[in-house]
Amino acid sequence: MKTQQELKKQLFQIDHKGYKAYKALEGEYDFGAYRLCIDHVQGDPFATPSRVRIVYRNQGNIAPQYFAGKHRQTAVEDYLLRRLHRNLRSCGGGERRGSGKSGLVTACRAGQEILERTAMHITGESIEARIEVGFPAYGRTIAAGELAEILFELLPEVAERTFRMQRTMQRELEETVQLADDQDYIRRELEPGGLVAFVADGAVLPRESGVSQRPLAQAVAFRSPDSLAVTMQLPHRGALRGMGVRKGVTVIAGGGFHGKSTLLKALERGVYNHIAGDGREFVITDRSAFKLRAEEGRCIHATDISMFINRLPTGADTTRFSTENASGSTSQSANAVEALACGSRVLLIDEDTAATNFMVRDGRMAQLVSDEKEPITPFIRKIRSLYRDLGVSTVLVAGSSGDYLAAADVVLQMDCYRALDVTERARQIAGPLPEEQARAQAWVKKPVRRAQIEKARTHGWDTLSLDRTEIDLRYLEQIVDESQTAALAYLMQYVLGRLADGKKTADMLAHEAAQKLAREGILSVTPKHYGAGPAAEVREQEILACLARYRLL
Ligand code: ADP
Ligand code: MG
Repeated sequence: MKTQQELKKQLFQIDHKGYKAYKALEGEYDFGAYRLCIDHVQGDPFATPSRVRIVYRNQGNIAPQYFAGKHRQTAVEDYLLRRLHRNLRSCGGGERRGSGKSGLVTACRAGQEILERTAMHITGESIEARIEVGFPAYGRTIAAGELAEILFELLPEVAERTFRMQRTMQRELEETVQLADDQDYIRRELEPGGLVAFVADGAVLPRESGVSQRPLAQAVAFRSPDSLAVTMQLPHRGALRGMGVRKGVTVIAGGGFHGKSTLLKALERGVYNHIAGDGREFVITDRSAFKLRAEEGRCIHATDISMFINRLPTGADTTRFSTENASGSTSQSANAVEALACGSRVLLIDEDTAATNFMVRDGRMAQLVSDEKEPITPFIRKIRSLYRDLGVSTVLVAGSSGDYLAAADVVLQMDCYRALDVTERARQIAGPLPEEQARAQAWVKKPVRRAQIEKARTHGWDTLSLDRTEIDLRYLEQIVDESQTAALAYLMQYVLGRLADGKKTADMLAHEAAQKLAREGILSVTPKHYGAGPAAEVREQEILACLARYRLL
């Protein structure tokens, strides 16, 4: 390892030279408190910024109890990343110094969710932060003085402020791991308690706006109806009352604008933990829960959707159904069976985003168009059997289709943002429920060929491209962060280039990839230069969803 003096000398030797000469700086340098690793230098001032790591010595700094266990480690890393972010901003990391991205120093931005990220990694020996630095230039010539300021003034200052333990940090770390413990406790208590989700009293569910995930000020806080209330004994916080969403079928009814979708959205995101102050800290959903919706236009590759669709007018075999352009109902069918294929134990459905003919078929329509002429077996005929025979629960927003009342174990009514248990009244109104059996089977049938992807890129959080073929992720509502999209880009390269063998199907590959993530972490599949950006953890559900939407699969 070289010294920082050597780095400085080398840097000033290339001052005013062509930009490419920066490449010579790649390497590792001793900065005393930390090691500076210049992993990758950008090709020109307008390219993706250079990749730099600060590897801070952790001896006796952050004690091991703060990152014992996966949930604590992720929470502490998240906390440190947010600190890093703040300090980069306050020390001038956002100021340009020259052409292109010159002088911009950034770290992965974290939203309301606490996710494992490549940007921060803590071990007993070190705290490793990955940051992006636009190496400065005037025109295309090296501006050594500007980079020197970043490497020898800004970064040491930021590292010191972010990682050196002091009293407030000690206290905040303590609070961070306590919250993580409590959240983890609830998550582990769901299954033995017969629950698929928990929504604490006092939770703030609505968001500031359609484009902001921050909590709405002056919201009506959530409160569980007495009949559905459970009390969790959290390790740090003590007793916490809230609504237990039980296994089985839960219908959320209520008038328009009374808060139904808001509750469901909170449940969707409850598969992740949230930061203190979010309002959804104690809204915890079974990790496998999948938001099921219609998605007209998606592609489907040899998938068995015969549970819902049969006897298509084209005569297509729906046990191996493929299309480049799915309809509302066929897309929702494929989404459903893919969720089942990755072991989802809960389906979350909002009638606002579901295909009506996938959901229901009323008596009069059945009289007019006989069952033999209708390819669709609506979800309502399978919903009970999905739970009874396959153990898959459903939480469903149904403001308009009363047919579902007959299928429900619990009917909630959202009334002016208050949750009421109206199960008894709903029972009196509910009519008969025609049922059909749902059987476990191999749903995803297409073997995946190996393919080397040269370039995997992302555009925002909702589009990913593999060598120019775009994958549309817009309707995967449980992707909450651009870094998850970047992770999917790397995972697609890994899955298609390394795991695929022409025999395994997409669901098997998604499972294998998810297991690798669980064992080795997100860093294990992220390339050193992470050209699509910093990555964050993703679930098996999203990995399969992404593979299934790749049109060249
Ligand atoms: P629905 O699905 O029942 O039609 P939404 O869940 O979309 O209704 O909520 C309607 C509006 O009410 C949204 O603007 C939402 O942000 C707001 N809202 C939801 N829950 C609350 C609450 N607890 N307190 C205040 N406003 C809320
Ligand atoms: Mg709604």
